[in-house]
Amino acid sequence: MGRGTIIVTGGSRGIGAATARRLAREGHAIHLTYRTDAEGADDVVGAIVAEGGRARATRADLSSPADIDALFVAVDTGHEPLVGLVNNAGMLETQCRVGDLDADRLHRVMAVNVVGPMLCAAAAVRRMSRRYGGAGGAIVNVSSVAARLGAPGEYVDYAASKGAIDTFTRGLAAEVAGEGIRVNAVRPGYIRTDIHALGGDPDRVDRLAPTLPMGRGGDPHEVAEAIAWLMSAAASYTTGSFLDLAGGR
Ligand code: NAP
Repeated sequence: MGRGTIIVTGGSRGIGAATARRLAREGHAIHLTYRTDAEGADDVVGAIVAEGGRARATRADLSSPADIDALFVAVDTGHEPLVGLVNNAGMLETQCRVGDLDADRLHRVMAVNVVGPMLCAAAAVRRMSRRYGGAGGAIVNVSSVAARLGAPGEYVDYAASKGAIDTFTRGLAAEVAGEGIRVNAVRPGYIRTDIHALGGDPDRVDRLAPTLPMGRGGDPHEVAEAIAWLMSAAASYTTGSFLDLAGGR
């Protein structure tokens, strides 16, 4: 994959912030998104620029198709062609059992974790695919080991949204493999970020780390390394693949 612009959704903190900084070091221009944390997004842009890189940030709520359209219009105004998308932004809600789920929550989770990333991928394909006159590119979807394990008693809805992302990864990878686009996914396990506080369990990683084969949680930069490899030319024959970053789980 040549150098150009890479979109990292949810780049204001956590795995997205680490990924944006890592990919900027490869010489790509980073276009990151955030939903509420403008300060965090500014900090990441500032850190990339301070290291000699190029970065911009756009506010975009992934549950809003209009915001996604506006994001890609903003990307189109940049000077460097789009070469990659990291579909990283995601959310979960308070831990509960399936019997306590309601329709509003399910629509919120699926809108952000499934519909938004699919719309982003569709817009990226229209710009990168040779079928549309593009020069090719790469997409990495950030799934979760929850897609394999189901997150019983915590957030089966979230796990199911990541299962949808896994299926989407397989299907899209096969669909655009002959058009110069590779599509892969990472499946993180327990990674130290703020997402666990959203579930009402901020100490979840430290609490559950002893149950993992490696006996520790992961750090965002360990996921960012895998994403950077999947985005890079070093992974030129890898598509429709999944890299689990879960300490052996
Ligand atoms: P995080 O620290 O909570 O960061 C989430 C990012 O997504 C933030 O940049 C946030 O923006 C953005 N975001 C949240 N809701 C959004 C929305 N409606 N529209 C647009 N952006 C939104 O989470 P993380 O742990 O880094 O998670 C990143 C990805 O990894 C997610 O897809 C998550 O499911 C996945 N994952 C994480 C773990 C883990 O253990 N941490 C494990 C498996 C998978 P603001 O900062 O502006 O709110």
